[in-house]
Amino acid sequence: MNMTSLCEACAHNKPVISSSGSRFLRCMLSKHDSRYAKYPPQPIVNCEGFQPPEDSKERARP
Ligand code: SF4
Repeated sequence: MNMTSLCEACAHNKPVISSSGSRFLRCMLSKHDSRYAKYPPQPIVNCEGFQPPEDSKERARP
């Protein structure tokens, strides 16, 4: 079964492509919060830190 990870739709996700072409999902919350792994094991189906991208745009507005 192919499960979609919450990370794919999260504003804190920063995809990283390795030199061999492999794609990893990096959680930017891990920089400041030890509860989050730098490279969360996929798929993530439930996460307190999840934030839709639209929310981050709203907060960035002056
Ligand atoms: S906050 Fe949660 S859902 Fe968002 S990228 Fe990090 S681990 Fe994934």
